[in-house]
Amino acid sequence: MTDLKKHFAVIGNPIHHSLSPQIHRAFAKEAGLDIDYEAVLSPIDEFKNTIHKLIAKKLSGANVTLPFKKEGYQLVTSHSNHAKIAQAVNTLEFKEDEIIGHNTDGIGLVRDLEQNLHIDLKNKKILLIGAGGAAEGVIYSILEKNPSELTLTNRTIEKSNVIQNKMDVHAKSFDVNLNVIEIAKCPLQYFDLIINATSTSLNNADLDLNHKVFHEGSLAYDMMYGKESSFMREAQSQGSKTSDGLGMLVEQAAEAFFIWHQIKPQTKSVIESLRAL
Ligand code: NDP
Repeated sequence: MTDLKKHFAVIGNPIHHSLSPQIHRAFAKEAGLDIDYEAVLSPIDEFKNTIHKLIAKKLSGANVTLPFKKEGYQLVTSHSNHAKIAQAVNTLEFKEDEIIGHNTDGIGLVRDLEQNLHIDLKNKKILLIGAGGAAEGVIYSILEKNPSELTLTNRTIEKSNVIQNKMDVHAKSFDVNLNVIEIAKCPLQYFDLIINATSTSLNNADLDLNHKVFHEGSLAYDMMYGKESSFMREAQSQGSKTSDGLGMLVEQAAEAFFIWHQIKPQTKSVIESLRAL
């Protein structure tokens, strides 16, 4: 008998903490789809083999998470514009001999900001802290929304300069000022939106950011989720609004779900139920 159930997975290392199986199963239940979605731990130097084993098991698609997003991009036979610009993937479609790569992280962040948190990014002054995969993956989606400026900063400032050089052509095409500034020199009470895309909150490390960067009119967005970070606490102490990255996580998953099933799932109830946990 043919197996009509479609199979999916999220691949990372570590992977035990991933909420993706829970999120995709919840979307599928709501859509009335019978799918299978598992978390797969890939050895660090075995990512390519892991993918080919999953293709041999007739998986329809996979999400890719830390630390394989860049390596995943090297394996694809075609890719979306967002994946190409980030040179990283978080969603794969397996179709006969093809591996199609997508990156839905930026779309997830922007949807969370705009639809769930009701922030219109147009003409806003935005500070993005961090220059790792998460920061790089969201820049194009932010630029597309026409903020007045996007300022990049990072502990290792050279990495911000590299990203600026790469993204400047896109910033110009959207008429956005793309700047780099040292973290200690960030102007105070200036930015409307301050996004923490570093791993400091995850690792309980200190971010060397003057808390007076935050103010009553700002939103401090931490991409990390699952706990209140000192980044969020400092922002609150200055009267700033705050959000963690749970909404981004669910929204990037919703876009992956749409790519695989052509169904747009409801995200609000899933965000609420995960937050209640
Ligand atoms: P990377 O390891 O690629 O990058 C880490 C970044 O954090 C670098 O910019 C690094 O700076 C900075 N950093 C690390 N330690 C410190 C420190 N002590 N002080 C200052 N800066 C520091 O990680 P990712 O970019 O993949 O992920 C970053 C965060 O985003 C994680 O918390 C992750 O969980 C979250 N994330 C959330 C998502 C969501 O859907 N909500 C999706 C993707 C990621 P340097 O360059 O100087 O080393």
